[in-house]
Amino acid sequence: MKVLISDPISKEGMKILEKESGLEVLLATELSPAELKERIKDASALIIRSKTKVTRDLIEAGKALKIIGRAGAGVDNVDIEAATDHGVIVMNSPGANTISTAEHTIGMLLALSRNIPQGHLSLKEKGKWERSKFLGVELRSKTLGIIGLGRIGSEVAKRAMAMEMRCIVCDPFISPERAKKYGVELLNIGEFLPQADFITVHTPLTDETWHLLSKKEFRAMKNGVRIINCARGGIVDEEALYEAMKAGKVAGAALDVYEHEPPRSSQLLTMEGLVATPHIGASTEEAQQMVGIEIAQQVADALKGRIVRNAVNIPSIEPDVYEKIKPYLALAEKLGLLQSQLLEGRTLVVKIKYSGEISGYDCEPITIAILKGLLEPALGDGVNYVNALKIAKEREIKVTEEKSESLLEFANLISLEVETEKVKGSLSGTLFSYAGPRIVRVDGYHVDIVPRGHILIVLHDSKPGVIGKLGTILGDGGMNIVAMTLGRKEKKGKELTVFNLELAVPQKMLKKIMAIKEILSLGTAKL
Ligand code: NAD
Repeated sequence: MKVLISDPISKEGMKILEKESGLEVLLATELSPAELKERIKDASALIIRSKTKVTRDLIEAGKALKIIGRAGAGVDNVDIEAATDHGVIVMNSPGANTISTAEHTIGMLLALSRNIPQGHLSLKEKGKWERSKFLGVELRSKTLGIIGLGRIGSEVAKRAMAMEMRCIVCDPFISPERAKKYGVELLNIGEFLPQADFITVHTPLTDETWHLLSKKEFRAMKNGVRIINCARGGIVDEEALYEAMKAGKVAGAALDVYEHEPPRSSQLLTMEGLVATPHIGASTEEAQQMVGIEIAQQVADALKGRIVRNAVNIPSIEPDVYEKIKPYLALAEKLGLLQSQLLEGRTLVVKIKYSGEISGYDCEPITIAILKGLLEPALGDGVNYVNALKIAKEREIKVTEEKSESLLEFANLISLEVETEKVKGSLSGTLFSYAGPRIVRVDGYHVDIVPRGHILIVLHDSKPGVIGKLGTILGDGGMNIVAMTLGRKEKKGKELTVFNLELAVPQKMLKKIMAIKEILSLGTAKL
């Protein structure tokens, strides 16, 4: 079996693959897309880092391809859907670079507080001796605000507390117990922003976290706050940061990641208070070695039929069972993803009911798919089929599963009830043999939604003309309606209208919709 390595991995990782009998290892980096397409034809596995773009076209050219191994965490350079369609397992090695990134963050914290890069440049490049210019601040007794208390955020907290900092955390998806375990104070964003002297972000980049720190948030912060981003470019709005630094609101910022890499926004880079590194958070000998070792071992184990670890798209189940439940997995993941986007607050309880034909299967992988979807808006690539159940447990989410063979309306039905600390919601989905997956209930309303693309769900009084008003606002705003469904519980009263759209509805348009007097609530999601 051929293993093609198209981005370099550590020599320790290479050795693991070379030692494995029956594997032929081919290291071929810097290939053009055409060369890669040629080389992948007879490869059973492809190992990449962040450089190789794995497109649908490439996956289809890999006739023998079984596994794509990403050395590192993010899999945004892989067309996961295409891999899943072709039964190709995509695996990553999250966690191998946690400590390196946490240490880099601490480095940034010290660089910011003591103007180390600025002092270095002034002396080395300009030959100056500007001692009073680089007056710094101590970290002891200062408040470090950590947004996202996951793997890296928690390691940053431990290290900051060793420097006698007070750590406050904003992470709506973790339990108070997790915060207590790390000795940090868990606050909501409104309480958090005005208290922090330094703010560091450690969330994944998702639709929700894009520009998480922008104009409004900078306004709410302490004067002279310092900002660190060693997570993903785009979580901090670079333009808003530039304005806030220029106005003196933000005293300094340290960035390892950028909205465009390499960064185009030269304006920000010209600010003296900005410390910039070229996305090297995970660039240590140890992390490089570790991701190489981990991915090589995982790929070797999976190819030799031993165990599949850290699969992003496929649960560890027998191939013939997988073939049967594959369409349900896709539906289940969409149900979870939709529900989490519709409900506010930390998830406490997830009740799943399998009815009809589906109840005859081992439904654990389907439950895992629902949890993966539910956790994805919070964890991005960090949640996969292997760790979803474990993460749900760690986050103290109570998951129950129930089965019932009988069903009148549908041949099969997955029903999901989710309770967060703020609200409750329910969804049901079915798989039609002729039409594929459909969401057929939203909070008890009978609907027929194709779970794909951008969704707008509007609850309104059942009165003539409302649909027309909705259509006019969407149409005037240039929104292309792909499909629409109307759901009722009873003849009179409330109605639920659901739109499938080509694009996300802009905030301004949502406000206009909310201003229609019959509208009771609305929700949006991207599936
Ligand atoms: P993780 O999945 O372990 O933790 C992410 C945390 O963010 C979770 O606790 C989640 O609940 C929280 N979160 C999600 N949405 C949030 C929101 N809107 N507000 C507050 N909290 C929210 O991830 P990790 O392994 O700790 O990685 C964190 C980030 O660091 C990721 O973006 C990752 O890609 C990045 N990273 C960067 C480098 C680098 O080279 N600079 C290296 C490794 C990882």
